[in-house]
Amino acid sequence: MHGERVAVVGGSIAGCAAARALRRAGAGEVVVLERASGRLQDRGVGLAIQNERYAELEAAGYLDARMPWVPLARRPWVVRDGARREGREIASMPFPFRSYSWGSLWQELRRRLPDEVDYRDGVSVRAVTDGLDGAVVHLADGAEERFDLVVGADGHRSAVRAAMLPPGSSAAPAWGGYLAWRGTLAAGQLPCPSRAFPEDAATTVAFPGGHMISYRIPGAPGGDGGVQVNWVFYATPPPPLAEELADPDASPSAELTSALTDYQLDLVERHFPGYWRDVVHGTPKEARLLQPIHDAAAPRFAHGRLVLLGDAAAIARPHTGSGALKALQDATVLGRALREQDSLPAALAAYDAERAPVGRAILALGRSLGRAHVQHTPDWASMDQRSFEAWWQENQGAGVGGRPLGS
Ligand SMILES: Cc1cc2nc3c(=O)[nH]c(=O)nc-3n(C[C@H](O)[C@H](O)[C@H](O)COP(=O)(O)OP(=O)(O)OC[C@H]3O[C@@H](n4cnc5c(N)ncnc54)[C@H](O)[C@@H]3O)c2cc1C
Repeated sequence: MHGERVAVVGGSIAGCAAARALRRAGAGEVVVLERASGRLQDRGVGLAIQNERYAELEAAGYLDARMPWVPLARRPWVVRDGARREGREIASMPFPFRSYSWGSLWQELRRRLPDEVDYRDGVSVRAVTDGLDGAVVHLADGAEERFDLVVGADGHRSAVRAAMLPPGSSAAPAWGGYLAWRGTLAAGQLPCPSRAFPEDAATTVAFPGGHMISYRIPGAPGGDGGVQVNWVFYATPPPPLAEELADPDASPSAELTSALTDYQLDLVERHFPGYWRDVVHGTPKEARLLQPIHDAAAPRFAHGRLVLLGDAAAIARPHTGSGALKALQDATVLGRALREQDSLPAALAAYDAERAPVGRAILALGRSLGRAHVQHTPDWASMDQRSFEAWWQENQGAGVGGRPLGS
C-alpha cells in the first residue's frame, strides 16, 4: 500500500485485526467505524482456537500468549445412563484447543491497535457505494466520507456485503432451522463431584436431537478474574417457536425467550445426567443468551474498492470452532496480499482467490455438522469409541477447528 485512506466498517474481532493488518501493510490512514458505543465485551461467551491454528496466528503477529486463555486437551462425549450422576462416556476425542472469553479476546485485540488507528465508536454506517474515484461511506447521521478502500468487517448483516451484491439480490443470512442456547457460570459454582468435569475437558452431553458442549474459559473483563464455564446447547425448537426465529433481523421477544428457555429445560430434564442438569440449572439467568443459527457466504470477498472479512464474508456456525479464527485468518491473508502484491486490485484479487473458497468450505462444513450433530443425530447411547470414531470421520469431525492458514 502507498498511504491509502481506508475505512473499516465494524470494530469487533475482524475489524480490529483488519485495522492492524492495514497499518502494517502501509495504509496511510485507517478509520474504524463501529456502531456500538463502549465495549463489545458481552458478545458471545467462549470460543476455542485449535493449537496449531493459534501457532500460525501467533507467528503472524495477531495473537500472543499474554491474551488470557485456558488449555483444553480432550472432548469426552457422555449420555444419560440411569441414575449415574456423571452419565456414561461413550467416547473421548482429542481436543487440542485454547479457549478464550470472547470479551477479553476482543479487548486484547482492541488494546493492541496502533495509536494511529482512528477507532470511532457509536458510528453507524447506513450504506456504502463504490465508484471510480473512491468508495463512499454514508453514515446514519447523513454525513459521507470518501475512502480509497472500504473493508467490511460488519458482521452477519453486513452493509458492505450488500453493496457488493448485484441489485435486487438478497444479502440476508439463511435460517439454519435450530438454535444455540448459551450460558456461563463461575467455575467455583460447579456442582459435585469435580471428577465429572476435568479442567482440560470440553465435555459434550449428547441426546436425541442435539448436544451441549461445555468448557472452561478465562474470566470476563471487569469480572472477578476467576475461571468461568461456558456451555452451548443445540436443539431444534418446535415449529411455532422456530418460525419466529427465521428472520435474521428479529431478536427473540421476552415471551419467545421464556418459551425457548422452558423448552431447553424440559430437554435437560428428560435427557441429561444429573451433574450436567445441575450445571444448566446453576447458570444465572442474566448469563444466558439465545443464538439462532443463521449463515451466509458472499459470492466474492472483494470487488472494486470493497473487501469483506470475518462474518461479513462468510458465517461459520459455532460447531466449526472457527468463527473468530476465520476472522483473524482473513485479516492475516489480506495484510499479506496487500504487502506482497504491487497494486491494490492485484492484492484484493489474491485475497479473494485465497479466502472465498475457505469461507464457502466452512459454510458447508457448518451445515453438515449441524445436520449430523443436531438435526439428524445418531443413536448416541448405542455407540462406543470405535463406532463413534467412524461416525466422526464420516461427518467431517476433523474439520472442527478450521483450516490451516494458506490452505
Ligand atoms: C451470540 C453470538 C455468539 C458467538 N459465539 C462465538 C463463539 O463462541 N466462538 C466463535 O468463534 N465465534 C462466536 N461467534 C461468532 C464470532 O463472534 C464472530 O465469528 C467473530 O467475532 C468474528 O466476527 P466479526 O468481527 O466478523 O463480526 P462481529 O463480531 O459480528 O462484528 C461485527 C461488528 O460490526 C459492527 N457493525 C455492524 N453493522 C455496522 C454498521 N452498519 N455500522 C457500523 N458498525 C457495524 C457491529 O456492531 C459489530 O461490532 C458468536 C456470535 C454471536 C452473535
